[in-house]
Amino acid sequence: MGELDGRVAVVTGSSSGIGEATARRLAALGANVVVNSATSVEAGEEVAASLPTESVYVQADISDEAQGQRLIDATVARFGHLDVLVNNAGWTTVVPHHDLDGLTDEILRRTFEVNVFGTWWLTRAAMPHLRASDHGNVVTITSIAGIRPTGSSVAYAMSKAALNHLTVLLAKSCGPVRVNAVAPGLVDTPWTTDWTTLHEAVAAINPVKRSATPDDCAEAVLALVRNRYITGQVLVVDGGTTVVT
Ligand code: NAP
Repeated sequence: MGELDGRVAVVTGSSSGIGEATARRLAALGANVVVNSATSVEAGEEVAASLPTESVYVQADISDEAQGQRLIDATVARFGHLDVLVNNAGWTTVVPHHDLDGLTDEILRRTFEVNVFGTWWLTRAAMPHLRASDHGNVVTITSIAGIRPTGSSVAYAMSKAALNHLTVLLAKSCGPVRVNAVAPGLVDTPWTTDWTTLHEAVAAINPVKRSATPDDCAEAVLALVRNRYITGQVLVVDGGTTVVT
């Protein structure tokens, strides 16, 4: 018997990286997982097929409200209920913070469409089902960029700050559904494959002497899913980077 047997979890953006690691950890504890991505359909289907539970893949771009609603509807149609929502899907493009003209309205809009609007729409659509569950909870993957003046762009940092605050606001308003966030520092995923200099810089300064693995983040998500009394918290998973910078 797995600890999460019978539970149903939606993990957005789980065709790779942190989302994939989280889907694997949840399924290893017995949860049925809905794997999702926007464009990486084959990769998402492969992840779902490789999980040990009755997991499925649903393609949906969370920045489209109707597609997000379809993701939640498909989940409930397939499994009858929803217990865990992991808001992991996100988007960024690198713009140096001093380059105000480089941060175009298009970039600002896209960043907020995926990270803020997408997460908001999906959480709102999921909430009636989470309220109906005895174990309803949300974990959103944010970033230390939402806490410190850092990150791949000013827009990205703003969007993650919004999600950190949304976490606290929803925890206050939506109980007994628990709402938490995991705020990673630099993580070694396809997203950051090309960021070699940054990985080296993090390894040089942080107390743990390396970037995070996707599994480091998935472990933190699992801790928040399993604990029945934590809500409204933003759990920093950065190997101590923000302790020394
Ligand atoms: P990743 O490996 O590139 O995975 C991103 C996932 O999100 C993919 O499955 C991607 O699928 C999906 N996705 C992107 N846009 C989507 C959309 N509109 N709708 C649905 N799915 C979408 O990246 P990652 O590093 O694991 O990042 C996951 C989360 O961690 C993000 O929210 C990111 O901001 C956060 N984070 C990452 C780091 C880091 O250093 N890597 C640090 C802090 C926080 P498609 O390819 O199909 O779009």
